[in-house]
Amino acid sequence: MILIDGKKTAAEIRAELKERAAAFEARGGGKIGLAVVCIGDDPASKVYIRNKVKACEEVGISSLVYALPEETAQAEAETLLASLAENAAVHGILLQLPLPAHLDTERLLAKIPAKKDVDGFSAQNIGEIALHRNGTAACTPRGVMELLRRYHVEICGKHAVVVGRSNIVGRPMALLLLNADATVTVCHSRTQGLKEICAGADILVAAAGRPKLITADMVKEGAVVIDVGMNRDANGKLCGDVDFEAVKEKASMITPVPGGVGPMTVAMLLSNTIDAAERSLK
Ligand code: NAD
Repeated sequence: MILIDGKKTAAEIRAELKERAAAFEARGGGKIGLAVVCIGDDPASKVYIRNKVKACEEVGISSLVYALPEETAQAEAETLLASLAENAAVHGILLQLPLPAHLDTERLLAKIPAKKDVDGFSAQNIGEIALHRNGTAACTPRGVMELLRRYHVEICGKHAVVVGRSNIVGRPMALLLLNADATVTVCHSRTQGLKEICAGADILVAAAGRPKLITADMVKEGAVVIDVGMNRDANGKLCGDVDFEAVKEKASMITPVPGGVGPMTVAMLLSNTIDAAERSLK
């Protein structure tokens, strides 16, 4: 069994990105800028933003954090996003979710132009991916594809099963696997016969947010198992969707939690930002 090391892979990617950011500056592009807009006091969001800012610094991207209070009005947030959309020094814009309940998330996301949408959440980018054209893919599924690529996992013609159909993970994950010529099955909370479907997977991606949903009897001998889940177990410890200890005995490759997909998500955010900056020069 090969343990897919997301932490190590993400560090390698950050080193590559540092070179690309430096090359961009050397070509006269200036410093690459990522604007991070955070509204409210969600404690988890603060941790995520700290991690993203630190990662930006490491690769030489300047991060501009706009921390707005909980009571920020819709119009005020829209004005900020519109000004960032116009700002040539800002190559990527990230709106940290979730937003306070009084704000209209869809309308705010729509203020971010597709070319600066480094999260890949806009309808245009999702549409481009669905049409198998060049669009910015959401960071977590893109991170999974990068792990599969760097660990030389054959995708073409394989049966990939994705458990979860959210707009930010499961759905774009299924599209990217389809674009890579996998035969894709998407499972969700209403799926019947989950166990049998998962047991037929050559590549199994778990993104349901349910601790230990994927047990060893749901995994084919030799399957590649990717665990996107980030949950807390009864003791408050971080765990994925896969019963790791049992499943690792059957899988040919498996990602741990933590240290699997998680670090790749931030690396792909940086990569999407550098892609956006490079496109802006063309
Ligand atoms: P979500 O709650 O929006 O979606 C969960 C999906 O799983 C839904 O489509 C639902 O139908 C499906 N599902 C739920 N229970 C199921 C069951 N019993 N059987 C089959 N399908 C079921 O969650 P999300 O935002 O897509 O995130 C999924 C998980 O991935 C969470 O644990 C989240 O914390 C984690 N996550 C990790 C990263 C990362 O960087 N590693 C990034 C985003 C999300």
